[in-house]
Amino acid sequence: MARIYPLFSSSSGNSYFIGTASGGILIDAGASCRRLVSALRQNDIPPEAVKAVFITHDHSDHIAGLRVFTKNYPVPVYASPATLEWLERGGHIASIGKSIPIGGREEAAGYFVTSFKTPHDAIESVGYRISTPDNKTVCICTDLGHVTPEADACMCGCDAVLIESNYDEGMLRSGPYPYCLKRRIASSDGHLSNSMSAREVRRLIDAGTTRVILGHLSRENNTPIVARNTLERELGGECVAGRDFLLYIAPVETGGMAVVF
Ligand SMILES: [Zn+2]
Ligand SMILES: [Zn+2]
Repeated sequence: MARIYPLFSSSSGNSYFIGTASGGILIDAGASCRRLVSALRQNDIPPEAVKAVFITHDHSDHIAGLRVFTKNYPVPVYASPATLEWLERGGHIASIGKSIPIGGREEAAGYFVTSFKTPHDAIESVGYRISTPDNKTVCICTDLGHVTPEADACMCGCDAVLIESNYDEGMLRSGPYPYCLKRRIASSDGHLSNSMSAREVRRLIDAGTTRVILGHLSRENNTPIVARNTLERELGGECVAGRDFLLYIAPVETGGMAVVF
């Protein structure tokens, strides 16, 4: 049975474990090593179960704990070529770095991981589609300003998808952020709004996805209820969460939440 554990998910830290207590992979390491280990243990996953770390991009909310984690648990770190070069140059990897060309496929602990490009204001940002040892598929797709045909193709058909639902457009507009930051977030290489995310979720459900996890919610410009309401409005009663698919909101910090798919 495949499981995804959203350990951290917000603008202040992101990390997801996919696997079991005997082995799996970590996507991003955006919290301190101490907090990552404690979040894993809270889910009964020993840190030694992490057999590889895959990094989506170079922003600190995705890599903050990488150096110390790979010093204490020296597992390979995978990233796109330009991201890997930046991580190695900056001393963010204390173990071995391995590059995956965009669109490439790598295997770690029996999980097959394919990367795809995401439109985001980072060096070379990617999302990941993962096939588990029992042939289930899950996609992690956060930090993108819009859904490209490539990202859509990689998410479509997955059993479970963790998709960004970063901000409510009205809350961002009237919120406290400076104008330039608001523009950056809402730009086509910023983040996905609730309504953009909801439109994509509708397509995913039509394509057979049964587990939807909304993630990377902004703590200033969104709330779980607002994100959920936006999605329900978009679905318009045609598909209902709990009946046609299971809907989860990734917590800012794990409370022992695992999604089985
Ligand atoms: Zn982020
Ligand atoms: Zn980012």
